[in-house]
Amino acid sequence: MSEVRLSLDEVAQLVGPLAPSAATHQFWANARDHQLSRRKHWFDAGFDAFFEPASQSVRFVRSEGRRFEGAPPPVWTEPPTTDPDELARSVRALREKLKGRSGPLPPPPGSTDVQKVMGQTTRYNRDPNVIAWVIEQADGVCEVCEKPAPFARADGTAYLEVHHLRPLVEGGPDTTDNAVAACPNCHRALHYSAKSTALRAAVIVRLERMVDHPCKLNAAMQPIPTQ
Ligand SMILES: [Zn+2]
Ligand SMILES: [Zn+2]
Repeated sequence: MSEVRLSLDEVAQLVGPLAPSAATHQFWANARDHQLSRRKHWFDAGFDAFFEPASQSVRFVRSEGRRFEGAPPPVWTEPPTTDPDELARSVRALREKLKGRSGPLPPPPGSTDVQKVMGQTTRYNRDPNVIAWVIEQADGVCEVCEKPAPFARADGTAYLEVHHLRPLVEGGPDTTDNAVAACPNCHRALHYSAKSTALRAAVIVRLERMVDHPCKLNAAMQPIPTQ
């Protein structure tokens, strides 16, 4: 089967009530690579979708070049961890699994409520899936200066670091819309440069996936009351 046509009613029976905007082409066919695209749901299942106003139906067509039986196996399976070695191991395992993959890679959900573990140094329960996705998307190029990573790791992969534009310590989420792949130089600049605020703002403007998450802690690291 390479194509299936479903009326809006039939789709609603499968997935529940549809928004009124479902009767527009934009609802079904917004940008393919946009991570927030509704289309990613069926695209991830191997289909492109086309709305046909005349028949109030949607045509799902097998996406070109995608060959798999049923749904692809889940990618984002590594649990968050506070142990840096375990985190690095999980990221390596994920990147190994992603080798040779092509086409858009749906982002992992990450965490908007990052757990903090107090000890001699405070550690955050970080999601290796978010790191692996960000590094994979960057494809060896720093997302800040847009230059290739300055060196390769021992295993041959490009060395890039993942930075949270709204730091976890300020209540930023561990999600792909808050995490950027940076070369070591740009990573230090994001933290310590006199122009770090402008640099951060520029990255948020340039990279479509980024969200300017609010700071949830004040300078004294106390929660900012919400109105
Ligand atoms: Zn850079
Ligand atoms: Zn950082």
